[in-house]
Amino acid sequence: MSRSGKGTEKKPGRNVRAKSGLNRAILDQGWGKFLRQLSYKQERRGGLLISVNPHYTSQMCNCCGFVDSSNRKSQADFKCIACGHEDHADVNAAKNILAAGHAVFACGEELRPTPSKAVKASSMKQEPFLGQLVA
Ligand SMILES: [Zn+2]
Repeated sequence: MSRSGKGTEKKPGRNVRAKSGLNRAILDQGWGKFLRQLSYKQERRGGLLISVNPHYTSQMCNCCGFVDSSNRKSQADFKCIACGHEDHADVNAAKNILAAGHAVFACGEELRPTPSKAVKASSMKQEPFLGQLVA
């Protein structure tokens, strides 16, 4: 998220100064403090905060589990090249993150999709208790 926009000598980046300012603003936000506060508020309301590995959640199809960077047609569009499922890219990724959270909650497993492989959470044999996650 805060990678430098400088680019390489052969292919220099554009809007480097603006990207530098954005990076500074992102890094100044104090994400650790935000997570502590979010966890505290969730526990206070009787909820639960589960952290999941977000890798490839934006490239994985929520219907069939196929993972490929080609699934992502643009920043907003997602279309699975395996099954044809279409959705807004952020909604598709959010569903994958929710499924990963359910997998962690149900069986303590982590959903780790890898590129070019159809991956399903192996813990789907057990139903997650949705009430506590949504609360
Ligand atoms: Zn698919």
